[in-house]
Amino acid sequence: MRIAMIGTGYVGLVSGACFADFGHDVVCIDKDGSKIDALKAGRMPIWEPGLEALVKANVERGRLEFTTDLKAGIQGAEAVFIAVGTPARRGDGHADLTFVFAAVREVAQALEAPVVIVTKSTVPVGTGDKIAEILAEEKAPKGTSVASNPEFLREGAAIADFKHPDRIVVGAEDEHARDVLREIYRPLFLNKAPILFTGRRTAELTKYAANAFLAVKISFINEIADLCEAVGADVQEVARGIGLDNRIGPKFLHPGPGYGGSCFPKDTLALLRTAEEAGVLQRIVSTVVDVNDKRKASMAGRVADALGGSVAGKRIGVLGLAFKPNTDDMRDAPSIPLVQALIDQGASVIAYDPAAMEQAERVLPPIEYAARAQQVAEGADALVIVTEWEEFRGLDLDRIAKTMRGRVLVDLRNVYERDEAERAGMTYFAIGRPAGS
Ligand code: NAD
Repeated sequence: MRIAMIGTGYVGLVSGACFADFGHDVVCIDKDGSKIDALKAGRMPIWEPGLEALVKANVERGRLEFTTDLKAGIQGAEAVFIAVGTPARRGDGHADLTFVFAAVREVAQALEAPVVIVTKSTVPVGTGDKIAEILAEEKAPKGTSVASNPEFLREGAAIADFKHPDRIVVGAEDEHARDVLREIYRPLFLNKAPILFTGRRTAELTKYAANAFLAVKISFINEIADLCEAVGADVQEVARGIGLDNRIGPKFLHPGPGYGGSCFPKDTLALLRTAEEAGVLQRIVSTVVDVNDKRKASMAGRVADALGGSVAGKRIGVLGLAFKPNTDDMRDAPSIPLVQALIDQGASVIAYDPAAMEQAERVLPPIEYAARAQQVAEGADALVIVTEWEEFRGLDLDRIAKTMRGRVLVDLRNVYERDEAERAGMTYFAIGRPAGS
């Protein structure tokens, strides 16, 4: 199969490289010339484990190419995937479809033969219908069809997720589109990945429902963590106790500073806007959005409480900035409101993240950055773990405590055990694990 992938970000680049690895011929297209230049030079524009080697291997095999020239890139393709961003529109939280529609219009004008246009971007219900209207307006070749194939990969484990998905969802309205997508994903059937064929609207909504459900799960355990703190129970054990129940499952039951990232915050909002337009209440998701916003905003208060009520004049060391480990993605990261509030309240902040510091500099107020984890503790009144990177799990707490001024550890990811921190002479604050539990 010959595939064009429009948008070479976290989803487009990983999907394109994996499709090439399946044996397809893939052209990845992006309008950002600096990304394409970097990729042509063998440099990855994003930080994703395993990606560089995968891209390199498939470029060498002649199956993966990069270009900014959309017209040339889509020629001869049987499927054109759209994997451009769909950020929350400023002001109302609607999914901003400007990039999607611009890309589709460009494709429609450039097509010389019919293709299957596949939205991999997360798009609201009905977007496929609007794309079909654009194709008609632009007089795209007859027989061009539109399918929805939402992506469920997680940053940080994107390649493994793409190659071993729990399921593949394909929403299509014609047999040709289904055949093309079945053929593209055929290598995964050998791995027994279930493929679910649905209508286009159903596929579009499935993606939002999945993300909204996961957001509910996270917010649920976060609120249970608050209750644990108040009543002297340990949320880690509660999570294990409920997660072993097959009906519940252990995943997404890790309490923390609130969910962030490039998907859950914007997708929950977009789901609410879709529901509003349809005149249907979504009280659970609506509450979760509010609960999560308040949770993120309250994290600086936890640090202040740990320091006796105020962070003014204090030096705070922050470990981890990315919204989760193994990515450099800072979109809607919980570290952003935390660091901003600490600075606003008169603290000075020094931070370290193994991958996200370059991205962080663009979105955080001016702070100091450290070259390694231990350095953020030096002279700090408190150390705050915000992202559970593997390398923060095995810190030498004895050594770190000795370099600190305040010896307070605020562990927003429950990485450490209270005993360990206290043995190192630290005062330890976790999520949902009160003293004595
Ligand atoms: P991204 O911002 O990393 O990448 C989007 C890319 O599209 C950018 O490089 C941009 O330059 C390019 N682009 C925009 N308009 C273009 C055009 N007209 N022609 C060519 N290139 C164009 O975004 P992402 O994180 O990869 O997300 C893409 C979509 O996938 C979104 O809808 C997102 O919700 C969805 N998604 C993301 C993830 C994730 O973990 N990041 C997971 C599942 C689904």
